[in-house]
Amino acid sequence: MNIIFLGPPGAGKGTQAQIVCANLGIPQISTGDMLRSAIAHQTETGLKAKSYMDAGQLVPDAVVIAIVKERLTDVDCKNGYVLDGFPRTVEQAQALAVFAGIDKVVNIAVQDEVLVKRLSGRRVCPACGATYHVALLSGETKCAADGTTLIQRDDDKPETVLNRLNVYHRQTAPLIDFYQRKGILCVVDGSQGLEHVTTAILDTLGATR
Ligand code: ADP
Ligand code: ADP
Repeated sequence: MNIIFLGPPGAGKGTQAQIVCANLGIPQISTGDMLRSAIAHQTETGLKAKSYMDAGQLVPDAVVIAIVKERLTDVDCKNGYVLDGFPRTVEQAQALAVFAGIDKVVNIAVQDEVLVKRLSGRRVCPACGATYHVALLSGETKCAADGTTLIQRDDDKPETVLNRLNVYHRQTAPLIDFYQRKGILCVVDGSQGLEHVTTAILDTLGATR
């Protein structure tokens, strides 16, 4: 099954994609992770993306569309995938429709007040990308998987968070309508506890644990 996880920054797309992908045995394709890796490796794509990401703006459509198009040709995508953080504009969705058939779009809905708390408390492992929240870390500062010291993403600092939420409402939220009209949208209440959200997503995908 080819799946899109749609939702504002901080909705839990990455957290849920990791769990659901492990459950379904399909890859998680996160454009945010791919772009951060490109920046770390100072590739041409990374150089093009950095200033936009630092400012909380979207990276130009052509750059993101090209990396997703290439990634979807990899053999591990043959039996399905979860797109986490792509598409984020109607232009990206239209381009995607030309090179991929999407079966389901899961919109993870969360109110802005909750998102601000989630983003400002998010901590990530710079080595493996695992995501945590300070509220659940009880003072722990290292990654449970590899012991690396956790960091706060630059774009999770307060001055960028509000900007990213505005960008979401202006440029990405129109995709809810776009996919509803195609009849493949389902909505999950992402403000519930983590496990409830996972169960709701698996139910809506018709998958069992
Ligand atoms: P996104 O990929 O949509 O930006 P993340 O998966 O990175 O969102 O989650 C954002 C933050 O919220 C992280 O710190 C994560 O640990 C936390 N989080 C995710 N889902 C939940 C949930 N259901 N309840 C509480 N916190 C959550
Ligand atoms: P979040 O998990 O908080 O939603 P991501 O890790 O998905 O954030 O994305 C981080 C940043 O990477 C975005 O603010 C944007 O600058 C860039 N980015 C990621 N995906 C896309 C995309 N599909 N189109 C344009 N920019 C993107």
